[in-house]
Parts: sequence; C-alpha cells; structure tokens
Amino acid sequence: TNTKIASLRISAPEAPESFDTQALQQLDSAHFLHPFTDHAALRERGARVIVRGDGIYLWDSEGKKIIDGMAGLWCVNAGYGRASIADAVHAQMLQLPFYNSFFNTTNVPAVKLAALLAGLAPQNGPNAFQHVFFTGSGSEANDTIVRMVRRYWQLAGQPERQVIISRRNAYHGSTLAGASLGGMPGMHAQGGLPIPGIDHIGQPNYAEGGRGMSEAQFGLLAAGWLEAKILELGPENVAAFIGEPVQGAGGVIIPPSTYWPEVQRICDKYDILLVSDEVICGFGRLGTWFGCELMGFTPDLIAFAKGVTSGYVPLGGVLVGGRVAHQLIEKGGDFNHGFTYSGHPSACAAALENIRILQAERLVERVALETGPHLKARFASLVAHPLVGHAETCGLAAGLNLVRRKGATVHDCEPFDSAHAVGMLCRKHMFDNGVIMRAVGDRMIVAPPLSITTTQIDEMVERIQYCLDLTLEEVV
Ligand code: PLP
Repeated sequence: TNTKIASLRISAPEAPESFDTQALQQLDSAHFLHPFTDHAALRERGARVIVRGDGIYLWDSEGKKIIDGMAGLWCVNAGYGRASIADAVHAQMLQLPFYNSFFNTTNVPAVKLAALLAGLAPQNGPNAFQHVFFTGSGSEANDTIVRMVRRYWQLAGQPERQVIISRRNAYHGSTLAGASLGGMPGMHAQGGLPIPGIDHIGQPNYAEGGRGMSEAQFGLLAAGWLEAKILELGPENVAAFIGEPVQGAGGVIIPPSTYWPEVQRICDKYDILLVSDEVICGFGRLGTWFGCELMGFTPDLIAFAKGVTSGYVPLGGVLVGGRVAHQLIEKGGDFNHGFTYSGHPSACAAALENIRILQAERLVERVALETGPHLKARFASLVAHPLVGHAETCGLAAGLNLVRRKGATVHDCEPFDSAHAVGMLCRKHMFDNGVIMRAVGDRMIVAPPLSITTTQIDEMVERIQYCLDLTLEEVV
C-alpha cells in the first residue's frame, strides 16, 4: 500500500497526468468510508477525485474544470484559493498550533474571535449575544445546544422542561442529538432515533402544504403547528424550539414571511427558548450576517459552523444570548461539557481572516444587493424551461423543481414518479458537464460561494440550462 500511495504523489495539481485516478479510486473504495454513501454503488462508479479549487471553480484529477454551485457543502463562502487564510493558519501554527481552553486557560485567536462574533451577532436588546461556546462542527454545536438548553431550565428551577421541538425534513447534523433534532426519516430509521425528549412538527413548505391559501396564511398555519405541539406536550415540559431560518439540506425551503415572527410570538407566549440553526444561513448566505435577521426573529441561541471559516478548517459554535448566558455564568458553576478543540487557535485564526475577507469585500452586502437579486432573476428565467415547475431563491440559496407537467401555480404542477429519480439523473448531467448542483428528490438546489460574480452566475445558469435540456431529452 505504501508504494501505491507514493505513486500518487502530487506534483503539479493542475496537470491531470500527475494523478492516477483509477488507482486513487481503488484505494478510496478499499479504505475510505464516505458520509451518506452507498459504498457498493460507489465501488462500481469510482469516486470523483477533486484536486484543486480557485474562486468558484474546482478541478478533478482528470483535469476537468467544474463550477462549484454548492460552495463545497454550503460552506466555502469566501471561495477557494484564499492564500491569506492559509497564511493566517500557517503563522498561527508556527506560533501555537493548539492549546485547549479547559482548566482556566485561553488563547489569543479564540479571544479575538469570540469578541468579534459578539459584535457581528444580531442585535438582541437585553438578550444580546455577548458569549460564544466553540465546537468543532455544526453537529457538535447542536449537541451543545441540547445540553445547554437543559442545563438552563435546571438552573431556572424548571427541570421538567426537557422536550426540544424541531421540524420534519430539518437537518441539524449527524451526531446522536443532531440526527435526532433533524427530521430526516432515513436517518431516524438507522439506529433507533430520535433520542428521548425530541419531538417534530411539519415544515413550512408552501409548495407541499399550502394548496388553496396564500403564502402568508400558510406561514401562520405552519407556525400554529408549533403551538398545537406545545399544548399537546404541556408547555411546562417544553424547553425549546429549533429551526433553520431557511431549510438547507431539506431542499432550500424558504418559509413565508409570516412564519418566523409567529413562531417567535408563540415561543414568547409559552416562555420557550428559541434556537436558530445558522450553520448554513450564518455568515452571509441569505444576504445578512445571520438568517434570523432576514426572517425577522430574535433567538436565544444560534448554532453556527461552515461559513465561519469558509470550511478551510473545521470550526463551529454556539452564540449565547443574555437570557441563557446569565443563568449559566451567574448561577451555573461548572458547565460539564466541552471539546478538545473548543476554541482551537488555528481554526480561530482561519475564522478571523475569513471574516476579514467577507467584510473587506462586502460579500454579505453584495449578496443582498447584487449577486442575490441576479441569481433570483436568472432562476426565475429558468421557469420557462419545460422541465421546471417553479423556482425560489433567498440570497445565494436557490432551488427549482423538476416536474412532469407544469401548472398555473406551484400546487398545480404534476411531479414525476419518484421511482424515475429525475433529480439524480439531472444531477449526473450537471456533474458530467462541469457544474455541481445538489438534488433533493426532484428539487435541484444551488448555494455557490458568496464571492461569485454576476458574470459567473450567468455562466452557471447557462450550464444548468444546458443540463436541463439533456435531462429533458431523456425523460420525454
Ligand atoms: N445544521 C445545519 C443546518 C446543517 O446544514 C448542517 C450540515 O450540513 C449541520 C447542522 C451539521 O454540521 P456539521 O456537518 O458541521 O456537523
């Protein structure tokens, strides 16, 4: 194996001949278990080997250039190839690669980042986000939230408040608590999830559930499911509600504007903590630093990860509002929770430089004013394609539905039989033709780096259009 590995030596990354793709694929399939992957199928197909990135583009080991319409996994907000992030991490690694923040110690990048995040966090009045708990990932951030919420209610003298309400088709990570908070049936089916104390309500998906009413009416209806669940469980047993401002992995499900303010009103009414999972929406995806700002609610806790470092190195965390922080700090004593990598200095150094880039290049404002509106207009134009039933965008997240027959409204479109897996077929054409789009059933989604230009959006949409044509040829 060692000689095999040595023969894969990378000399010039851009030169395809410097990679033995087949050998890499064989080693990959022999040893590397991938996330959410059917390995028997992967062995037949061989994994695509990605070797380089620059801006919004990737290159594979065969030398093929690809537009990364998914910013890695919704995370490379600043785009690939940022030497200054690499330099910041390099300098920090030479200075102090790692030290823990247990046992009354701290480190400079973690202190600076915590203070910076407290300044960037949404305005929240007396419930201001002045504190942050660092983790290594979004899943760990949500696990931390489960523990923190329960500790909060213990300290507040209401320990029976245990249940956290989440939504079906939500994604909150892959740890036991993250997968339980998530509402993915495929995940729950493998391994006895959800864990006790987690309950689910329906998602605010207008296309799915809003027939015969306006979007505004449907938003109120969907928020009402929360109130019904609280009453069913007994408000005295409910600790918190958690949701993504816009559901990402569920298919870029953008709630009606009435939804989140009503959710907030209901949480306030029953004194329930409100948690915003900003692992995707945070750091500019929707054109605001945090998605809750766009959606019009003020949570008690915010989970973040991904865009905080643009994925260059792993980092996540929880922004803690005053209400929870006060109990934890003033009354709680030790909070018996933490990770070796909480406040990892090299990861925090990457985040500091990444946020500097987002600010210096005004990437978040550009999503709000320039690139987001351009993507919206271009996606709206795709609805003219015979395969596209409807398309929705929010900032730089967008989704379109492939349908058998178009209708006058989103509710009148006739879907394909799911057995045809038209979304996967379309995704394959995209992959083969140099653009990465994700398929959630027959909903095709994009979330490109925030550094994308309007010209690059045009280039991406033209390729998408071409691949829709190829897909159409196969399904008619
Ligand atoms: N929460 C949301 C909304 C996510 O989209 C994800 C990952 O996609 C997670 C949590 C989990 O984050 P991680 O994969 O870093 O554990």
